[in-house]
Amino acid sequence: MNHPVVVAGAGPVGLMLAAELALAGVPALVLERQTGAGEEAPGMAINSAVVELLAQRGIMDGLLGDGMEFPRAHFAHIWLDPATLAGAHPYTFLVPHQRVRQRLEEHATKAGARVRRGAEVVGLRQDAGGVELDVRQGGGTEVIRAAYVVGCDGAHSAVRDLAGIGFPGADEVFHGLVGDLDVEPGDPLCDQLGVHQHDDGFFTVGPVSQSVLRVTTGEFDAAPDDPAAPVTRAELAAHVRRLTGAELATRGAPRWLSRWTAATRQAERYRQGRVFLAGDAAHVHFPLGGQALSTGIEDAVDLGWKLAARVRGRARDELLDTYHQERHPVGARACATTRAQMALLRPGGGTGPLRQLLTELVRLGEVNDHLVALVGGLDIRYPSLAGEDGHALVGRRLPRTELVTGRGPVTVGELLHSGHGVLLDLSPGGGLREPVAGRCEWIDVVAAEPVEGLPEGVLLRPDGRVAWAGAASDRAGLTAAAARWFGPECD
Ligand SMILES: Cc1cc2nc3c(=O)[nH]c(=O)nc-3n(C[C@H](O)[C@H](O)[C@H](O)COP(=O)(O)OP(=O)(O)OC[C@H]3O[C@@H](n4cnc5c(N)ncnc54)[C@H](O)[C@@H]3O)c2cc1C
Repeated sequence: MNHPVVVAGAGPVGLMLAAELALAGVPALVLERQTGAGEEAPGMAINSAVVELLAQRGIMDGLLGDGMEFPRAHFAHIWLDPATLAGAHPYTFLVPHQRVRQRLEEHATKAGARVRRGAEVVGLRQDAGGVELDVRQGGGTEVIRAAYVVGCDGAHSAVRDLAGIGFPGADEVFHGLVGDLDVEPGDPLCDQLGVHQHDDGFFTVGPVSQSVLRVTTGEFDAAPDDPAAPVTRAELAAHVRRLTGAELATRGAPRWLSRWTAATRQAERYRQGRVFLAGDAAHVHFPLGGQALSTGIEDAVDLGWKLAARVRGRARDELLDTYHQERHPVGARACATTRAQMALLRPGGGTGPLRQLLTELVRLGEVNDHLVALVGGLDIRYPSLAGEDGHALVGRRLPRTELVTGRGPVTVGELLHSGHGVLLDLSPGGGLREPVAGRCEWIDVVAAEPVEGLPEGVLLRPDGRVAWAGAASDRAGLTAAAARWFGPECD
């Protein structure tokens, strides 16, 4: 069987991509090496960009009961106030990433994607018409053919290596442990919830559930004695003692313990013919401020509708090139800004005074807001989309906006649930429908009352990025943007 799209890896990014493809009418096959459901995902938080992207597909509702809003963001563990930035979700959402994976998998499979576990991609060849994968499962190897393959198979991506895409960057000398402990009510570790910064690194305690706590240690310029050895409770206790000078105060037993490493690397290209990379397969950096997952999830949201449009014959191949053009600079920026944070995370290395200065500076509203937008992934603009003389909104996401329509109030995020493009017609005459009439199958036209700060018309791509914004009189601009992003008119 020839699959339209095969996704390697059922991590959050692969599952989000599968959900996006299914929403756009292309059910993908997801191949996942692990047999279990990924209970050991180390992440504990999603930032406001991820909240926004999940909310625009209606996925956030299902996650609300799994986590909690935390009214803070941080830059190198220096606290920021997200509430002062207008138009954004004013919190970081604390939720174990295994729940995010579960919800995304439910969502993707309900929409039509198929997830095959215990299936590892071990070989890849591509020709002009498709890609052949060697997939190892249950002692045998099977060949699966697809029109397109996306490697969402994490930092050590086999797809990336097999496609011959370089992954330049550097590994840090770093010693990190992470794991979950079962705790009884009143366990002393509950008193240590939060982030604890020390001279050589940090120790954090976060709630997975009422009876499970996640502990994470990170030490710079240090290496474990044996990186391949399984982590024991004794090793965790010794590491906490070395970092903090105090004992690991808990009676809790470990559910799982693991090592983590630190590296900053980015794939040279996100596309090689019919093979694409997304998420950690495309970029890895120190996990701070939820930037890792927000970069990866938006990779998936950027690529999904484009790939679906191409598979369904509605787009030319050039549309797929815009994936690298738009997302590679975002990955590069995330790598750069997390390296800046890493430098600040080593107070023992002489950066203490700099941390102190930055702690003072974030009390200035503009500094706070700039950093909130940066770590929340909210300041991203795609220059390739904006062109030279486009409206300032083009290439950006709209701020959270409530619209008043003939059918009542609605948010822009709700309008994007369908995965279609959306033309907001905020002009007094409501006459913007005609330039996009030939593409009405893919663009929902929504007339609403004028909104302060927004122009008369705004065309959103399916990923929520502004493709055109302007006055109702700019019909030529609207027509050109619709043709560029939504392909030929319907017959
Ligand atoms: C200690 C720690 C804490 C973190 N905390 C946060 C946080 O709070 N917030 C945040 O945003 N990010 C955090 N991160 C980063 C975050 O975990 C990753 O960015 C995220 O998991 C990347 O998702 P992904 O889907 O790209 O890759 P992964 O989650 O790595 O998923 C890749 C999947 O591909 C599968 N796979 C691998 N090879 C193959 C193959 N050959 N064939 C088939 N399947 C394959 C793997 O089994 C895996 O399921 C943290 C990371 C660490 C180490």
